[in-house]
Order: sequence, then structure tokens, then C-alpha cells
Amino acid sequence: MPMHMDDLEVKEELGKGQYGTVQMVLHKRTNVMMAMKEIRLELDENKLKSILKELDVLHRATSPYIVDFYGAFFIESCVYYCMEYMDAGSLDRLYGIGVPEDVLGKIAVSMLRGLKLLKDELETIHRDVKPTNILMNQNGDVKLCDFGISGQLEKSLAKTNIGCEPYMAPERIESSGTRYSVASDVWSLGLTLLEIATGVYPYGTESIWAQLNKIVHDEPPKLPTQSESGVVWGDNARDFIAVCMQKDAKLRPSYAELLEHPFIVRYADAEVDMKGWAIKATAWKEEQMRAKRTGQPSGSQ
Ligand code: ATP
Ligand code: MG
Repeated sequence: MPMHMDDLEVKEELGKGQYGTVQMVLHKRTNVMMAMKEIRLELDENKLKSILKELDVLHRATSPYIVDFYGAFFIESCVYYCMEYMDAGSLDRLYGIGVPEDVLGKIAVSMLRGLKLLKDELETIHRDVKPTNILMNQNGDVKLCDFGISGQLEKSLAKTNIGCEPYMAPERIESSGTRYSVASDVWSLGLTLLEIATGVYPYGTESIWAQLNKIVHDEPPKLPTQSESGVVWGDNARDFIAVCMQKDAKLRPSYAELLEHPFIVRYADAEVDMKGWAIKATAWKEEQMRAKRTGQPSGSQ
């Protein structure tokens, strides 16, 4: 579907990343709500055109584990990228209410299926697995976004800074020249699940250099048996994160192997009230935002 700025009505800002802003927009002709990401790039028209072509190829596959892509266009040197609007937002803003093991299990299953599909059907590596790139809707669906940014786009983005907390694997930090492999995404998958479960980024809040240093030199962090609020995680969940976060990339399992892991097998077809959790987590998030706006403490929940 060809996309045009004139077809869109901007509703509100959903968030800001390192490269630009994401806005909620209404596609007026179809009445579909979308998320529009603006990426600022200093590129000539030919390069921008090749980026749009690559984006189209990347999004040929549709899957319940990957956000839908509606189209992209550019104005001057900005790429505008329209995707499925996920009305519960990214997991980094939702996990504050705590993530019990069954919900974590379902999130892991969706992420794993999404990552495997990218690899098998699109021959793409995600490269940016982290809680802000895992989105949820009120239906309880969990989907990946911002994956495998095309070669051209990646080269242009690489010039900017590394950004917030690092989710990259030790081998990515030690030798930035090595080819990016699936194993590096497996590390980020483990780290993302660990953060979502515990509610904190596990490498501390110091400078990015201290965090990178810890990723390379320290023993990988582990999922505890229990959270401070009393959420209990079993051995399978703990082992899943531990096998993903092995410092030696060669030891990390493939997606096919991870799909056979008891943690995934346990929750793959289990009935879990993801919708109920999404609704509760969204209500919690909205209350936090309201409290921040008004300066009043949020009610106990
Ligand atoms: P980075 O720039 O380091 O990748 P980021 O992923 O947070 O960080 P963006 O991808 O620009 O940056 O997204 C900004 C925010 O917008 C996200 O954190 C997320 O909360 C929100 N967002 C992104 N895509 C969608 C979407 N499709 N539906 C709803 N919210 C979204
Ligand atoms: Mg993102």
C-alpha cells in the first residue's frame, strides 16, 4: 500500500528513540491506527530509495509474532515508517507490576518464534533485541519490532552513539568487526527476559562504559529463584536465561534447540491469561504517567 503523509493524521507521541520519534497516527482512508517512526538521516535520494526497497523485502512475511509493516516514505532526509500500532506499548514500560513465570514463558515463546521466523523466512538477524523493541497489545499479543534494519540504513545509523543500556553480547563489544550472528541475538533474548522478569536492567545504573566492562568481564547475571515482591521462578525459567546468556557465543543454543527447552515446551501451548496481564499492566502504566503529570503519588496497586 503506498503511504503518504497527507493520508495520516498525527494523534500523539508514543515515544522517542535515539534516531527519532514514534507517533500514533490515523490512516484516514482506512481508519486504521498506526505507529509512525521518523528516522532522521542525512542521505541522498538514491540511498533513501534503496532503504525503502529493502524495508519492503524485510516485511514480506506476516506473522503473529512480528509487528505488521504498512509502508514507508521519505520527506527530505527523513524516513517515515508505518507499522502496526501496539496499544499496550513496549515491555520496558509494562513490567512494573511484576511478571509471573507463566507470562514470562509466553513472552519467551513469542520472542523465540518471531526471531526464528526472521531467520528462517527472511534470512535476517534482529540485531536490536531489547525490552523497548518488544511490543504488546491489549489482546495480550507479544510482537517484535525494529529488526534487521537494512544494510543501508544500518550503515547510516552506525554513525550515531550507542545509546542507552547495552543489550549487546560480549563478543559484539570485544570485536565490533566480527559478523553479527544469531548467537548474539540469543544473548540479547536472555538479557531482555531477565530484565523483564526482575524489573531492572541487570548491569547496574553506572556509566555505559562500566556496563560494557561488566558484560565482557563479569559472570553473567542470573534469574533469582524469587523476586522481592514474591514472584517465584522455577529452574526451567532460570536455566533458559542461563543458557542464552553464556559468554562463549559458541555454547549458546540455536533457535531450534531453544524451542525444545523445557521452559518453552511448558508454555508453548499453555493457557495463560495474557490479555488480563496486558490490561492490568497498561492500567498500572497509565496510573504512573498520570502521577508523573500531576505530581501526585500513584495509588497503591
Ligand atoms: P532505540 O532508539 O535505542 O532503539 P527505542 O526502541 O525506545 O530505543 P524507538 O524505536 O524510536 O526507540 O521507539 C520509541 C518508543 O515508541 C518505544 O520505546 C515504544 O515504547 C514506542 N513504540 C515504538 N513502536 C511502537 C508501536 N508500533 N506501537 C506502540 N508503541 C511503539
Ligand atoms: Mg525501538
